[in-house]
Amino acid sequence: MFVCSCSIFKKVSEINLEADFVLAQEIAEEIKIEDLMKHLYVLSSDSLEGRETTKPGQKKAAEYIKNQFIKDGIYPTKTGEYYQKFNVSVTDFNRATLSLNNQKLELISDFYLFGNTHDTLISNADVVDVGFGIVDQQYDDYKNLDVKNKVVIIKEGLPPNINVSDSWENWRKKQKVATEKGALAVITVKKNYQSSIDRIAPFLLYPHMRMHKDVLSKATYIPNFCISKTTYLNYKKEPSLTASFSVDINYEAETENVLGYIEGSQYKDELLVISAHYDHIGFDNGEVCNGADDDGSGTVCLLSLAKAFSIAKQKGYDFKRSILFLAVSGEEKGLFGSRYYTDNPIYPLENTIADLNIDMVGRIDTIHTDMNYIYLIGSDKISMDLHNISEKVNQNYIKMDLDYRYNKDSDPNKFYYRSDHYNFAKNDIPVIFYFSGIHNDYHKPTDDFEKINFDKLHLTAKYVFFTAWELINRDKKLK
Ligand SMILES: [Zn+2]
Repeated sequence: MFVCSCSIFKKVSEINLEADFVLAQEIAEEIKIEDLMKHLYVLSSDSLEGRETTKPGQKKAAEYIKNQFIKDGIYPTKTGEYYQKFNVSVTDFNRATLSLNNQKLELISDFYLFGNTHDTLISNADVVDVGFGIVDQQYDDYKNLDVKNKVVIIKEGLPPNINVSDSWENWRKKQKVATEKGALAVITVKKNYQSSIDRIAPFLLYPHMRMHKDVLSKATYIPNFCISKTTYLNYKKEPSLTASFSVDINYEAETENVLGYIEGSQYKDELLVISAHYDHIGFDNGEVCNGADDDGSGTVCLLSLAKAFSIAKQKGYDFKRSILFLAVSGEEKGLFGSRYYTDNPIYPLENTIADLNIDMVGRIDTIHTDMNYIYLIGSDKISMDLHNISEKVNQNYIKMDLDYRYNKDSDPNKFYYRSDHYNFAKNDIPVIFYFSGIHNDYHKPTDDFEKINFDKLHLTAKYVFFTAWELINRDKKLK
């Protein structure tokens, strides 16, 4: 279970903690369970609607964190702002519409749109039934048909009892032919609409995001709508058929990281980052996913740590190094906020000594039975000093079981790559990822406040605090 070899233990005993831990223990008393509870109660409430990136609930959470920084006397960064804004490109299939003979079809129950489609708006285009939409050596569904500037209806699959290549099972091939013939859109009649909608609906309802600067694969396809056989047969009866549709699914939206800063004295250009993501996944089938553990738990640790360091500063204790409290957005969409920060750092990455990242630390997972453990990931990958300090701090002041099972390169979960610390690690900045594991409520509407173990959360917050305390106060740089 543990990867600590004897040689590591030897090094741990050689590491001396240099900071004033009498004072640290006094200041750590400012990390209060009541604060953790108070913040998490708000951040995981239904009114924040699952804090999905770019959505109103995420903005409310950002506002809450910012106001808390202000209340606790935490400064903005040198930009003068608490927010670091960035754009994401969103593809939201919920915004597609389709009407046949001016009757509006309902998304999901009657139709859906999929694929990489450019935005377009068409009114009353003629619809042409092109059978299976196949043009093979001996067989041509488009024979004598003009589909230019029209919408084609194509049946999924292959015609029975006719010898054509199996490759026509591929919808892309049919769509390519329709595009070449000048069609405006394809309406595909699915063999089994219900089973495909069951599979695809959760993805269609969940807006897909990319980082703004990521190169879009060229959206050269015409729209491809899918309908059921029943819908097809209903409209087939009508003497003529027109289609109107709007595909306005691609747009830019803004989101923000929230940053608080406390300046050090002696080596103030050197910076420790403490990070947690405050965004979550929004709704699941109409139910709010409150994300109390993911990552409400890390966010409230971050807030409590910021307050404790701020109080220390107010009491006149100077730290040697500076601290950046980095609450990031866009994590659930692909670690966007931390990537944006590390691509556009406000303080040079060369001077960033480490990132302590807290993501999901409020529960006891399905592997452990008591609360006295924490998974550490990444601590020994870039700086052995960081690992040893973290071990020593735990040995002296926390005494949790440090579980390194997910730190192994062979771990199939690959957690090392799955939270925000990774964007620092890939820039060669030492990291520790604090994590208490996966549970049955992970990414579900049941990841609720009531299920958080606040004693565990409290102990973890103190552990990160003591580690951070040593890192910003020791004389020697990390090796
Ligand atoms: Zn998550």
